Amino acid sequence: MDDREYLPLSWLGQVEYCPRRAALLLNERVWVENADTAKGRSEHERVHDQRVERRGDLLKLYEYTVFSDDLGLRGKCDCIEARRCDSGCKIRAADFPVRLYPIEYKHGSVREESSYMIQLCAQAICLEEMFSTSIPAGALFFISAHRRMEVEFTPQLRAAVQARAATLRELRDTLRIPPAEYRPKCKRCSLREYCMPKVKASAGAYCRRMTQEAMGEVDL
Ligand code: SF4
Repeated sequence: MDDREYLPLSWLGQVEYCPRRAALLLNERVWVENADTAKGRSEHERVHDQRVERRGDLLKLYEYTVFSDDLGLRGKCDCIEARRCDSGCKIRAADFPVRLYPIEYKHGSVREESSYMIQLCAQAICLEEMFSTSIPAGALFFISAHRRMEVEFTPQLRAAVQARAATLRELRDTLRIPPAEYRPKCKRCSLREYCMPKVKASAGAYCRRMTQEAMGEVDL
């Protein structure tokens, strides 16, 4: 890969949730905390502690850095289970071949959220590239409910990862902010007041437009 910026893998989930939200985060550096994001962050911080645990033939790697040259992404896996498997791959932490199984921690109730599945699958694709292996499945772990939900990395899910990564790259390269499209999910979005989804322009873009108008740089 060339010297392109590696984009945060976790933002694929933002693209899936709303491309405009991803663009505001990426290109206008907006972050607004609401109850959902605060709860998610605090629960996540509790599990963010880089370490390796070993019990017999099973290792657990926490906070493991992953990247993909192909996708141009970097990020972290909350946890990877590495279990002894003769047909598995070699990793530094184990003196035997292992099969890898990524696990992503989430807060809230157990649910099949496509943005979560895309983020998890992207982690698996990174690991496959890093260790020349194949990873057919991983899991979402819902902290409050203490429940694990297995996710199969189907061709459709992998294609969705590729598509969201391409969109994220395009948003970054062009600095484009897609227009707002008011949908039910806007009610839960922490950027709602900044985005102003009903007026189809971000506060930042609106202010820039006003400044340009005041400077006579645009036709009125
Ligand atoms: S308020 Fe709606 S349109 Fe605006 S960023 Fe959030 S989800 Fe996207």
